[in-house]
Amino acid sequence: MRARMAERAKTAIIAHMPGEAIRKAGARAHRARSAVAISAGYVVLYLFLDRVSFIWALHGIDITPWNPPPALTLALLLMRGFGYLPAVILAPLLSSQILPLVSVPPLVGLVSAAVIAAGYAAAAGLLRHVFRIDVVLRRTRDLVLLIAVAVAAAGAVALGFVGVYLLAGLIGPADAADAAVQLWIGDAIGIVVLTPLLLVARDRLRHARLAFGRAFWLGAAETLAQMSSIGISFVLVFGFNHQRYSFELFYLLFLPVVWIAVRRGLGGAAWAVLVVQIALIAALNLQRNSADTIRSFQLLMFTVAATGLMLGAVVSERHRVARALAESQGRLAAMIETARDGVLTIDGRGRIESVNPAVERLFGLPGRLLAGCRVDDLLPGGRVFERLASMARVPPTGSAREELDARRADGSLFPVELTVGAFGEPGNEHYTLVLRDIASRREAEASQRAHQSELAHVSRLSLAGEMASALAHELNQPLTAIAACARGCLRLLRQPGFDPPLMQEGVEQIVEQAERAGDIISRLREFVATGTTQRAVVPIETIIDGAVALARIEAAQNGIEVVLRLAPDLPPVLADRVQIEQVLLNLMRNGMEAILSHAAATRTLTIEGRRASAQAIEITVADSGPGVPEELAGQLFEPFVTTKPLGMGLGLSISRSIVEAHDGRLRLVKRRGAGAAFAFELPVHEAAAGIEAEP
Ligand code: ADP
Repeated sequence: MRARMAERAKTAIIAHMPGEAIRKAGARAHRARSAVAISAGYVVLYLFLDRVSFIWALHGIDITPWNPPPALTLALLLMRGFGYLPAVILAPLLSSQILPLVSVPPLVGLVSAAVIAAGYAAAAGLLRHVFRIDVVLRRTRDLVLLIAVAVAAAGAVALGFVGVYLLAGLIGPADAADAAVQLWIGDAIGIVVLTPLLLVARDRLRHARLAFGRAFWLGAAETLAQMSSIGISFVLVFGFNHQRYSFELFYLLFLPVVWIAVRRGLGGAAWAVLVVQIALIAALNLQRNSADTIRSFQLLMFTVAATGLMLGAVVSERHRVARALAESQGRLAAMIETARDGVLTIDGRGRIESVNPAVERLFGLPGRLLAGCRVDDLLPGGRVFERLASMARVPPTGSAREELDARRADGSLFPVELTVGAFGEPGNEHYTLVLRDIASRREAEASQRAHQSELAHVSRLSLAGEMASALAHELNQPLTAIAACARGCLRLLRQPGFDPPLMQEGVEQIVEQAERAGDIISRLREFVATGTTQRAVVPIETIIDGAVALARIEAAQNGIEVVLRLAPDLPPVLADRVQIEQVLLNLMRNGMEAILSHAAATRTLTIEGRRASAQAIEITVADSGPGVPEELAGQLFEPFVTTKPLGMGLGLSISRSIVEAHDGRLRLVKRRGAGAAFAFELPVHEAAAGIEAEP
């Protein structure tokens, strides 16, 4: 009844748990179950191994020439961590109560079990957290560290263990040293023979793919031959007059182990070492050798095992590196094969060694004809080969690229972007050239430029249109004056005996006024003229004066004062005069419109020019208008953004493109307070920049 209630309560709790929590609780329960199962399996296996290796036990306690259980302990701690320490203490404790021929008090069993657990836990901690070995022993270094640390730990455990038994009176002081050495050798050989196998086998099993193809049967035949070679070696070593020859011929056991290690790597070597060890123990057992002789054989066996394992580790590591290399080469080759850019390698004499399919497509020639050609035949005029070494030294970022012309098989030229890298020994460099066809990019850039200049022209026309009434008004004055003067002159002419000096004065006035009108018209005509615009070295004053002359007319009519503040000795700039006038005029008209949009006491438009750096001049246009509204500031330079009923919203966007084409940046530098201010830079003419830059 109670059980049913508990079950119901559990179901109710689970029903209220969110999905993620249920999943986590399930995973926790699963982990706990598998930890218990692994611990139990470990203890059983430990007791089993301890039992089968309980031969030639010294003093009737668990000190034997081959002791595999510590190998199990170390492998468990390395693979699973310190959570298994209870099982690691329990196993030797149980063993101390079951196995020995003499009775071991439980407390002594517990303390010695704690010594064993502490020793191997310290070794596992050192290997995992200090030396950070890979527990599946992928590198030779991992195996070497494992053997070194395990041998040291086995020594420490042997001292501790024997110490405890000495204190408990289970071993006499005279035998202690001997027992410690025996235990050390027994544990060390146990670990060397079994731990690598346990660590490697799990990983191998996980990645094993069984396919009964030709390779499988060949492998099986080879395994059989290798096992037979171990058997034959044993017969040779122990078969005849073993008292005399076993030691002398022991080296024969190296042969099968080395063969297997070379062919099968660490996994094979670990199996071979285990098989040889079991066979050795069996042979020694059969021949009823003394514990002393067995110990000597175990030392020899330690050498065989360590040599075989290390050789196997080196072979495995080399295989892994070779596989990784082949894989990365394959990846690289696939990338190069499918790349849209042409990739070619050339030797130290400028001859083409290899090309990818993209190069064949670019130049219209098959690879076999391209191989052996000089790179300068493909890139005429670039004199690429002469410059290769210096180009390759530049890091592969922007500046290492160069644009030059390449020649197709039919003789036609096309533009490419070239990137160069060097490889090979110093003094015997080879080079990799990456060629990107930039014909379509160039076309796109040219059409974008044309489009931009068309747009700028349309915008200039519209700007001029907007200024038309102010200009008409301005032209009206000289025309009226000309008409008045001409009428006066006519009147003088009709008078008999007219006064020539007076007449001359009138005509001079006519000329002056006509020139004034002509000046306005010619400025306007130049401003709206189409034609390709070009950069030239211009004094900055010329540009500013030109724009101000046009803007001033409208300013004067609206009572706006135009203030010019130019720093003295500004160097000439490298700019397109008409385009920069357009930018200035745009900014000035925006400023004037802003001033007129609100009733302000001061109506001033200020144009400032100053040296921003050795390479640039900064021009600022500020007004006394209301400033730029907060919500507009972020999108001011986007096209079609306008707050004016008749505005197109193109002025600032076109101005920004023009300034950027001059390597500058147009920005809003003041948006609140007494009006808005816009600023931009213009590049100083190179020669002037050079003079200024020098100290
Ligand atoms: P348009 O003048 O045709 O509107 P612009 O790109 O030149 O196009 O300007 C976009 C908008 O930016 C204007 O509509 C105006 O709201 C704002 N703006 C530009 N200059 C100023 C200024 N000096 N003061 C305040 N607002 C400005």
